Amino acid sequence: MKEEAMKRIKAWQDEIKAYQLALTTMSYDRLTVAPENGIDYYSEQAAYLSGVLYSIQTDPDIEKTLNELKSEELNAEQKRMIELHLKDFDRLKRIPKDDYVAYQKLCQVSEKKWEEAKIKKDYSIFEPYLLQVIAAQKKFCALRDATKEPYDILLDDYEEGMDQKKYDAFFALIKEKLLPLIHEITLKQDALRTDFLEGSWDIEKQKQMMKVLQKYLNFDPSWGYMGISAHPFTSCFSHNDVRITNAYHENMLLSSIFSLIHETGHAIYEHQIPEAYEGTVLCNVSMGIHESQSRMYENNLGRRMSFWNRNYDELVSLWPDRLKDIDQETFVRAVNSAKPSLIRTEADELTYPVHILIRYEIEKGIFDGSVDCRRLEETWNQKMKEYLGITVPDTSQGILQDVHWSDGSFGYFPTYALGSAYAAQFINAMQKDIDIDTALAYQDMASIQKWQKERIHCYGASIPSLQIIENATGESFNPQYYIEYLYNKYRDLYQIK
Ligand code: ZN
Repeated sequence: MKEEAMKRIKAWQDEIKAYQLALTTMSYDRLTVAPENGIDYYSEQAAYLSGVLYSIQTDPDIEKTLNELKSEELNAEQKRMIELHLKDFDRLKRIPKDDYVAYQKLCQVSEKKWEEAKIKKDYSIFEPYLLQVIAAQKKFCALRDATKEPYDILLDDYEEGMDQKKYDAFFALIKEKLLPLIHEITLKQDALRTDFLEGSWDIEKQKQMMKVLQKYLNFDPSWGYMGISAHPFTSCFSHNDVRITNAYHENMLLSSIFSLIHETGHAIYEHQIPEAYEGTVLCNVSMGIHESQSRMYENNLGRRMSFWNRNYDELVSLWPDRLKDIDQETFVRAVNSAKPSLIRTEADELTYPVHILIRYEIEKGIFDGSVDCRRLEETWNQKMKEYLGITVPDTSQGILQDVHWSDGSFGYFPTYALGSAYAAQFINAMQKDIDIDTALAYQDMASIQKWQKERIHCYGASIPSLQIIENATGESFNPQYYIEYLYNKYRDLYQIK
């Protein structure tokens, strides 16, 4: 019985894999090279394939088999796999199919309205759709588990084991420790030189710098590829075919550099997850851990002095006239500069978590009723003023800047800040085993990547993320590492006593 059932599950997983690969390939293609006018035809076919995939994923016979398997003797990985599959079934089956389909359609319209509103800088175009998306999500949460607080259900969807209580404690630290520091730094803006980063930076030369960094980071063309898209992202086709993208801006040298380093952090993770988990739920790693790997590359490694020991010479050789009089230390200090700004995706390492704090407080208020959903734009603007001292000049640079809420992805944002906090704890543990500065200075990413593989990547999703942190660092998640890291780094950098 057990062997027979496992075989059925395997065949079902293989079918899912094939559809997923097709959809991943199509989506990457659309976001990188597809001409604009092909979108409607593409969308129809992609929707059709998604519908077929949905039917496969919710096959009631498979759910029955999975439930029967629970009483069989299984190893830990098999148990976990079945647990994750049943969780997915649970998520989908409590929502009536008609409601689910109607919601998918609503999200498509809502996303289009969001785009239109953003271009026209008019929140009122998007607001009625956002309110419908919120109402649908509230309804779904009640259907899924009426005994739980709705926002807790959503937070757990994006990061297993996290809830409002844990996030409240985390964001309270950010408010208490980082907000005063940000205010002090705002007053000391002339402590660091950043003027030399202004002006235009030839895009062909930026691309040459990408080659240097890809080699340095072991992003190897035998398994990795980089395309171009409006916003950088990583897409995993299989562990030996991981695609990232980058975006080039002539007036921003650092944007493509740190996007590449960030996405490579995601890519190395996907590449190093055990081959045995390929295409199964055991590859669906947590958002928080994923973001910890990319942020660790971008911030904890990429903004270190030792990272630039070799790479800075290469950068100077591309722009000798611009950079020959700027020494490495001045450059590295500049890439670490902090200043309150409007846009989350362009925010520096210190103010970034405050952008997430604002989104977290609003989302929490939406679901517990403490924020008036008809005053979301005002609430947003008030919080930007209160926490970052910034007046939002127009709504496209305010509440309309991110796509996430248009398709109901509530509970997603907090994982971005969580990832940075995980990264600080990982780096602290890594430092005990490896001399990170020596590794970076001698272009030895291999020893860092070996540590990541053995401590983090080897698990895939076979254990929950909070357990991965405990196994890798020897203690449970402790946001204090993150707060201390930022606090010490920025007090030092801006000479604040
Ligand atoms: Zn990322």
